[in-house]
Amino acid sequence: MTSFNGTSKTNVLSFDLEHWHSATLLSSALEDPVDRIEESVDIVLNLLRKHGVTATFFVVGEVAEEYPDLIDRVRSEGHEIGSHGHTHTPLFELSPAAFETELERSSGAIERATGVEPEGFRAPNFSVTRETEWAFDVLESAGFRYDSSVFPVKTPMYGVPDAPRRPYTVPVDDPFRIGSNREALRSLVESPLAAIGSVLRLPIAGGFYGRVLPERLLKWGIRRLNRRGIPANLYFHPWEFNPAIEVESLRPHKRFVSFHGVEGLESKLDGLLSAFSFNTARSVLEQEALLDSGGSDVERAVGANDLE
Ligand SMILES: [Zn+2]
Repeated sequence: MTSFNGTSKTNVLSFDLEHWHSATLLSSALEDPVDRIEESVDIVLNLLRKHGVTATFFVVGEVAEEYPDLIDRVRSEGHEIGSHGHTHTPLFELSPAAFETELERSSGAIERATGVEPEGFRAPNFSVTRETEWAFDVLESAGFRYDSSVFPVKTPMYGVPDAPRRPYTVPVDDPFRIGSNREALRSLVESPLAAIGSVLRLPIAGGFYGRVLPERLLKWGIRRLNRRGIPANLYFHPWEFNPAIEVESLRPHKRFVSFHGVEGLESKLDGLLSAFSFNTARSVLEQEALLDSGGSDVERAVGANDLE
């Protein structure tokens, strides 16, 4: 493994693959938007190919149904396909039973497109919080091996401000802390999104933050996490790399939140991929000894002690 910036940590690179117009702020504001999904995915695939990097794509089940060849093409380039729900409905709006159905339908659609069942899940709008902690039960019984939905920050829409920042095996009693070997642990690993700072936490994981924060601040944040032995887990959306998306019909506030920084994101990610080592969520969790390469967990490993 190549060492960058004095650390040998490999970071998680992930993309939430959904229609650009399915974002919560936009879906009610647009009439008849143009799909740009294939051209957006191609921009990202070209960039990853240039750096020889594989990433995890958390795919909305409906998109896998609509574009099975595209999803299979992503997989055939060595990327991991995870589930991003079936209809991109945040868990806040779902019952546990409805969430189970979402998982079944999305896994079915992904398996039909690629021949492989997803092992990882990312909730729409990072909607795994204390309010929806039943999600871990449902994910575990549906056979998922890891979740990557916990944002250890406080925001008006989502977040678990005191959740661990490093990946960990999820304890049965409190899913938002690192357990010990003596207590009951789930056969489910959590890979939280990147945030820096112990008390006041700043999200640096990508998406809106990735577009708005300068490249040098993102690099500083990733380096800071890596020095503490924490792999940074970054997420982006393929549409965020595509300046061709239609924005004229949006009001200025929505346009800022949804599209600010789109023009510069490709070169920013290019810079991050040159400076740091990245891989799929699955591979990083294997490297962290939380999952084994055969698909079962390693002695129910707990994360290293979270010292912060
Ligand atoms: Zn999403």
